[in-house]
Amino acid sequence: MQTRSRSVAALASLLLLGACDSPNAPDRSSFYEFRLSPSDPVFHWPATALPVRFYADQVGALPEYVALGVRMWERQFLYGEFRGELVSDSADADVILSLQGSAPPDGPLTDDPPVTSCTGVTSVPPTTELGSGQLVYTERFQVQLQWFSRGSPSDIANCLARVTAHEIGHTLGVFNHSPTPDDLMARSPTAREPTARDRATVQILYHVRSDILPFSHGLLPP
Ligand SMILES: [Zn+2]
Repeated sequence: MQTRSRSVAALASLLLLGACDSPNAPDRSSFYEFRLSPSDPVFHWPATALPVRFYADQVGALPEYVALGVRMWERQFLYGEFRGELVSDSADADVILSLQGSAPPDGPLTDDPPVTSCTGVTSVPPTTELGSGQLVYTERFQVQLQWFSRGSPSDIANCLARVTAHEIGHTLGVFNHSPTPDDLMARSPTAREPTARDRATVQILYHVRSDILPFSHGLLPP
């Protein structure tokens, strides 16, 4: 009993602290840090760069997974703060997604429990500083996906769709991982689409100033 009343008291003081700290700010547990380090510059696509142009290797169903992932992220915004489209020429793209190796076995997307049968990595480009002090990316974003022979064809398809959506989240400017395993932006995602925390995080990101211009907007010095 004593332990119980102590925990009730501890909980009550925590709630009070939270309320005193920031009465009007969103609950801190409802979003996560989108930068790798709080001192890093912020990046999100400016309105003038929309729709962001995604190019997907024509391997297996990758273009379909990219289209699904882009639409999922678009749905997280109320006012079209992010929009994307698929382009057929990588030279026109802001983001290039490739799938290493041969085409995966053809399997439909299902509701089966997630199996880790693929992996992905997003390369955030280096930046350079223009004369004005403005940071700009010197290259396009690159996403590389890879699948393994583990599980059924649908397990592999589900993994590729899920991890493609996760990597697209990185290309929106969410460079960090969510500490909550349920979130799409967790390091090893099991969610199929952004959660409420992922949504709150990108909404906050797209309403703070971006410090970096995308490659397509870079007036690079000679
Ligand atoms: Zn990641």
